Amino acid sequence: MRNVLITGASRGIGAACAREFARNGDRVFINYNSSKAAAKKIATETGAIPVKADVSNFDEVNKMREIIGGYGRLDVLVNNAGISQIKMFTDITESDWDNMFSVNVKGMYLVTHAFVGDMIAAKRGKIINVSSMWGVTGGSCEVHYSASKAAVTGFTKALAKELGPSGINVNCVAPGVIDTDMNAHLGNDDLDALKNETPLMRIGTPEDVAKTVFFLASKNSEFITGQVLNVDGGMVI
Ligand code: NAP
Repeated sequence: MRNVLITGASRGIGAACAREFARNGDRVFINYNSSKAAAKKIATETGAIPVKADVSNFDEVNKMREIIGGYGRLDVLVNNAGISQIKMFTDITESDWDNMFSVNVKGMYLVTHAFVGDMIAAKRGKIINVSSMWGVTGGSCEVHYSASKAAVTGFTKALAKELGPSGINVNCVAPGVIDTDMNAHLGNDDLDALKNETPLMRIGTPEDVAKTVFFLASKNSEFITGQVLNVDGGMVI
């Protein structure tokens, strides 16, 4: 049974990943920050183990590492926890900028740093990071979000080169518009316009992303590393 940690798994894409890995027989750790009840509900439903940690907090991440370490070495890490914000660039404050990078970039660094040593020692492991199409193309009114997600792709490529000789695959997915709380602000007209811009003519589901993440953690992707896989219905081609 593989040990799989999914950060930000209380809701949305992370929760779908938790269900996908648990359904396939993995022992899943559901990391959450503020949505304790939601995390516990998914844990009960799937047999997964909820673990609280703000990924941007060094002490909380290391406490999470101790708890998970009690179950053995981590086989798969999915760095999914993330926040977004829509703002004109001229309105982005220093604290908006710092929050965005604390969770989306520093969080990924802290969690990866906490668990990668065991993967290196074992000479195997899979790390999948969740970027965004805006990290690839840049999104208007989301400069800080786009920059943080571009950092996720740079991190992925560099770490893949460094850890390849240690038998560790590091990849990322770049989702398009996915139906989660993160897009709850979009009205029906916005959603229709986005569907019309998408070659596959629909909004993505959290399960669309979860299945791709699962593939990147599976034996079917052993020779893939350092890649950014778009899961966006063809929005970015
Ligand atoms: P979501 O529904 O808003 O869920 C976000 C998740 O991240 C929640 O489980 C939340 O946990 C967790 N989280 C936030 N801050 C955290 C922190 N400091 N420590 C630990 N967990 C934290 O968002 P989503 O749409 O599923 O997004 C998941 C990932 O996909 C994000 O990285 C996002 O940028 C990326 N993405 C989403 C879309 C999209 O269209 N939805 C597109 C491209 C990329 P709590 O609720 O427990 O705090």
